Amino acid sequence: MSIEMKSAPLVAREIENLKKRCDSLKAKGVTPNMKVLLVGENKASLIYTRNKKRFCEKFGAECEIINLNENIKEDEFLNKVREISNREDVHGCFVQLPLPKHLQHIDCGALIAPEKDVDGFHDHNIGELFKGDPKSNGLMPCTPQGVVNLIEFYGHELSGKNVVIIGRSLIVGKPLSLLMLNKNATVTVCHSRTAHLQEHTKRADIVVSAVGRPRFLTSEYLSKDKNQILVDVGINHDADGKLCGDMDYENIKDLCAGITPVPGGVGPLTILSLAQNLLQAAENSL
Ligand code: NDP
Repeated sequence: MSIEMKSAPLVAREIENLKKRCDSLKAKGVTPNMKVLLVGENKASLIYTRNKKRFCEKFGAECEIINLNENIKEDEFLNKVREISNREDVHGCFVQLPLPKHLQHIDCGALIAPEKDVDGFHDHNIGELFKGDPKSNGLMPCTPQGVVNLIEFYGHELSGKNVVIIGRSLIVGKPLSLLMLNKNATVTVCHSRTAHLQEHTKRADIVVSAVGRPRFLTSEYLSKDKNQILVDVGINHDADGKLCGDMDYENIKDLCAGITPVPGGVGPLTILSLAQNLLQAAENSL
């Protein structure tokens, strides 16, 4: 019998923690304050940023979406991000991606002060992740941190486990491999050039897929006898326009010990991690 690893119970528990931490900061005269820079009117980005704002307000933090014109000049954009990031009353700041084409070459993580980089994209924070010092107060990348939190929430130790991650992007696969290595897992990172992918996934204790292909991971990739934990980061639409993950959920859910659904699995944890980073940034500022 496999367990459906939904994120809702973890989010509910963590909102209570965030409220307590936020109240304690307010008692010290600090209201956690996040600024989101949104360029243009990309529909998905508008929804994501509103969700982030609503989430922050649930536990008492402030969050403002600063909407910049789609045609903003590069200089003006750079100055605006730096100006906001340098404000003393701002504890966390990020640029909602994707940017319009003429700004896409900019490394936004580098524009924001590392101690306010709630996305965890700044080289300093990537360096902290790379070093893996458990005492570091670096801000960790959101989706990977959410994946680790979810696995641990459902009682699965990472230490000593064989983890196979499919995908090596800068926002999911690569940073996740470091987070899990720092938790003493034995990590294999696979990608589009990996030979014999099934051989890797079949021997894994935990398989994480961050590929972006609807229902790509079928039963042929799995080992029925290993009680595997399957974590699906993918957010895709199938040919009928239905939201689905990278995993062939209906056909594999009974072949493993635990599996995250899409939607309702990893997805909501990115915002939770962002909020946790905001509070950590505000606490670090004391
Ligand atoms: P990218 O497109 O940046 O990376 C995809 C990775 O998958 C690449 O490393 C690629 O390999 C690998 N890949 C592609 N095809 C294959 C294949 N046939 N076999 C093995 N590996 C393959 O995607 P992202 O990391 O940005 O996102 C991945 C998925 O996760 C998407 O569905 C996205 O929507 C979702 N996502 C969800 C989030 C959330 O839950 N909040 C947050 C971020 C992403 P190569 O490097 O060789 O090209």
